[in-house]
Amino acid sequence: MSERGEAAPTVAVVGGGAVGVTAAADLAARGADVTLYERGSLGAGSSGRAAGVLYDAYAEDVDAALAARAMERFRAFDRSLPGFSLAPCPYVIAVREGDPDADAVPAMVDRMRSHGRDVSLVDPAALADRFPIATDDLAVAAVAENAGWCDPASYVAATGRRARREGVAVETETAVSLTGGDPAALRVDAGSGGGAEVRAFDAVAVAAGAHTAEFLGDAGVAVPVVPYRVQALTTRTPYDGPMLYDATAGVYLRPHPTGLLAGDGTEPVAAEPDGYDREADGWFVDAVTETLRERVAVASEGDPSPERAWAGLCTATPDGDPLVGPVGGDGVRSDDPNRLFVAAGWQGHGFMRAPAVGELVAEGVLASLDGTEADAPESPWVGAFDPDRFDGDESFEITEGMSVEERVGE
Ligand SMILES: Cc1cc2nc3c(=O)[nH]c(=O)nc-3n(C[C@H](O)[C@H](O)[C@H](O)COP(=O)(O)OP(=O)(O)OC[C@H]3O[C@@H](n4cnc5c(N)ncnc54)[C@H](O)[C@@H]3O)c2cc1C
Repeated sequence: MSERGEAAPTVAVVGGGAVGVTAAADLAARGADVTLYERGSLGAGSSGRAAGVLYDAYAEDVDAALAARAMERFRAFDRSLPGFSLAPCPYVIAVREGDPDADAVPAMVDRMRSHGRDVSLVDPAALADRFPIATDDLAVAAVAENAGWCDPASYVAATGRRARREGVAVETETAVSLTGGDPAALRVDAGSGGGAEVRAFDAVAVAAGAHTAEFLGDAGVAVPVVPYRVQALTTRTPYDGPMLYDATAGVYLRPHPTGLLAGDGTEPVAAEPDGYDREADGWFVDAVTETLRERVAVASEGDPSPERAWAGLCTATPDGDPLVGPVGGDGVRSDDPNRLFVAAGWQGHGFMRAPAVGELVAEGVLASLDGTEADAPESPWVGAFDPDRFDGDESFEITEGMSVEERVGE
């Protein structure tokens, strides 16, 4: 029962990735009666395959505010969430001589700083004095200080335990689907031979990652959230430098408990969420190995061949911003649109924003159930992320979310 003596609202969260577990725990912490459905194990989707690079260096105001809140929560969880730890580590964005993107970096840094982010332009030579990385070929570099890395799977597992402590019913190995009738009713697959039951909730929040468009599409709700493949690898190369994004090579790297983790390897075409190739490509391994040799002094001495290399999915949207908020125009009861919600389309930045996005989803869903319209001034939903800005049938080019062009955001 709520403080007002009413029954707690019942909310289903679909998807046990970083966004779903955070939203579920935060909803329950605010008094909702929450069931979290995950068709595999917690973290089985993109969150369990992510690199765990975290920073708040964004050029857009909303992105910067959300990322700052996410970093604040990661730091608090480092102290308070058993099983989770954050390794603070600066994040360097570097652009090589001859790359036209170099010209955009000062303006990008100015915009990040205008939102209070601790980011500065650095002379490449000064960068080499501070960090064990080669900088001779760089035209320009920026350092973001409020950054770090973590093991994403441990965040999901620890937050899953927090969710259970808050009273969330965590139903793993349980696939669900929308019924297409009541927007907040789910068909719950009871497993092999068990058939399916329909459960009605006050609200359903869909954080189904790469499956989001398919999931909502089955109930006639079209969202332009397109999965694409990205890749990462670890090597035993000893490395205690900063996190680094070599924008010209399109490769990022960070320290890792067994050496070094590096990635990107974006394949900018739509991928099939159940049928994509989970192994890394040879071209990606070769390109990263080459970049490590050039950029990380010790890699040219040690063996930079991968210890493990893998692929996973990110999700793109037409404007690079996520869809976070109520959905449910065509195909679901349009007189009652605010009971079905979505949180997806992170363009490669979903894990680092999950602590803030989960909180936003929790507050937004509860405000909507309380009757606060999504466009009311007091609504917690973010206008720039409103799912209604799209028809759902847009066709668009998939662009890699980390590029300088994407970050400048103009
Ligand atoms: C190699 C790689 C590196 C990355 N590195 C970073 C990084 O450094 N920093 C960063 O911020 N982001 C990174 N990302 C992106 C990040 O992984 C995602 O943005 C983030 O994990 C998305 O979280 P999510 O909870 O939205 O989705 P997911 O983690 O994909 O969770 C969705 C869940 O929904 C479940 N599901 C789907 N359909 C159903 C259904 N019908 N019923 C029940 N459950 C269902 C899935 O099984 C899945 O577990 C990386 C991604 C990859 C692949």
